[in-house]
Amino acid sequence: MAKTIQAIRGMNDILPDQSPAWQYVEGVLREVAAAYTYQEIRMPMLESTDLFKRSIGEVTDIVEKEMYTFDDRNGDSLTLRPEGTASCVRAGNEHGLLYNQIQRLWYMGPMFRHERPQKGRYRQFHQFGVEAFGMEGPDSDAEVILLSARLWQAFGISEQVELQLNSLASNEARARYRDALREFLRAHESELDEDSKRRLDTNVLRVLDSKSPETQAVLANAPKLSEYWDDASREHFEGLCKRLDAAGVKYVLNERLVRGLDYYNRTVFEWVTTELGAQGTVCAGGRYDGLVEQLGGKATPAVGFAMGIERLVLLLASQNKIPAHNAVDVYAIALTEAAELNAPAVAEKLRSQSQGLKVQLHCGQQNMKKKLARADKSGAEFALIIRDNDFELKHLRDREQEDVIASSLDAVVAHLTQNS
Ligand code: ATP
Ligand code: MG
Repeated sequence: MAKTIQAIRGMNDILPDQSPAWQYVEGVLREVAAAYTYQEIRMPMLESTDLFKRSIGEVTDIVEKEMYTFDDRNGDSLTLRPEGTASCVRAGNEHGLLYNQIQRLWYMGPMFRHERPQKGRYRQFHQFGVEAFGMEGPDSDAEVILLSARLWQAFGISEQVELQLNSLASNEARARYRDALREFLRAHESELDEDSKRRLDTNVLRVLDSKSPETQAVLANAPKLSEYWDDASREHFEGLCKRLDAAGVKYVLNERLVRGLDYYNRTVFEWVTTELGAQGTVCAGGRYDGLVEQLGGKATPAVGFAMGIERLVLLLASQNKIPAHNAVDVYAIALTEAAELNAPAVAEKLRSQSQGLKVQLHCGQQNMKKKLARADKSGAEFALIIRDNDFELKHLRDREQEDVIASSLDAVVAHLTQNS
C-alpha cells in the first residue's frame, strides 16, 4: 500500500462529527454580530509580509517567531495571516471604507502561527473578530465589549468567563512608563528570567505578563502603568467602566494586561476562563487609534477584538453547551423493486414538502433487515418504508409508538409534522 500523507502538525481537520458544533457556533456569531449591525468583510489569507511587520510590530512573538513567511515565485515575501486586524485595516484603506466614515465590521476565518501545538493552541486556528472604525469615545469600546458579553450569554457560558480590563493610555504616557519600568527592572536584572532579560531592551512591557514566579515577585513592587495614565486616557477608561457598570457587565482591572501586539493604545481587554488550562484567553482586544494612519490611511480611531473559535468550541464542549444535532430525520427505504424506481422521486417530494427535513435515501440492493439496520444506525427518528401503493412510518427511537400506515405522502408529512 502507498504511504499515507498526513496533515501538517498543528493544522486540524474538522470532521463531520465536529462540524455541527462549528456550524452552531458560527451561526450564533453571525446572528449576534448582525444584532449590532456589524457587516461581514472577507480578506485574503495571504498578504505582504510588510503588512504584519508594520502593524503587529517587529519585536513581538508573532513577527519574531510565529509567522509562516515565504517568497512566492516572483520573489515577493508573503505571509499567511497570523491575525485579522491588520488585513482588515489594509482592506479598509485600500477600498476607501475608513476615510471619514464609520464602519462596523466582522470577519471569521483561519489564521496561521508557527507555535508549539497543544490543547487550545494550533498552527492553523480560527478567529471571529469585530472592528469598529471612526468612533473615538468609550461608548464604542463599550459596544464591542457588550457584543462579546452577549455572545457568552447566547452560548450559556457567562459564568465561565471573566472580563479583564486595562488601559495602555496614550503613546506618550506609555513611553514614560516604559522608561520607568525598565529602570526599575534593571536594578533587579539578576532576578529576572531569561526571556524577560531579553525583553528589557526590546519590549519591556511584555515582561509584565511573564509566567516566571521570580519575575512576578520582582514585578510586585514595580511602578504601575495606571500611575502614568494621562488625563484623557483616564477619563476614557472611566467612561468605559461607567457604561459597563450601567449595563451590568462585571470586570476586573488587570494592571499587567498589556497584549502582545504593538498597535494597541488606551483600552485593552481579555475574556479569560479557568476551564481550559493554560490556554485560558478566549477573546482579546482593545483600541488601536494609530493603526489606520500607520498603514497609510487618514488617522482614524478604532477598537475591536478577536475570539479563538477552537477555544470557544472546547469551552462549550466542556460545559455540555453544544446542542444535540441529528444529521438524518427520515431514512427512506423501498420495499419492492417497483417501489425502488419510485423512491428517489418520493424522497424529492418529501424534501420539497417539508422545508428543512433531512431525508436520507437508502442506496444499494440489500435485504430488508440490513436496510433497517442502516436506518437505525443513521440516527434517524423515522424509517419511511416506500411500498407499492402506500407508506409505512416506523418510529426508530421510541419503539413504544405504533408504526403508521399512510396512504399518501401528504399523510406522511402530516404525521412527521405532528411528531416534530
Ligand atoms: P496567547 O496569549 O494564548 O498566545 P495571543 O495573545 O497570542 O494569545 P491574540 O493574538 O490576541 O492571542 O488572538 C486572539 C485570540 O485568538 C486568543 O485569545 C485565542 O483565543 C486565539 N488564539 C491565538 N493564538 C491561537 C492559537 N495558536 N491557537 C488557537 N487559538 C489561538
Ligand atoms: Mg500567542
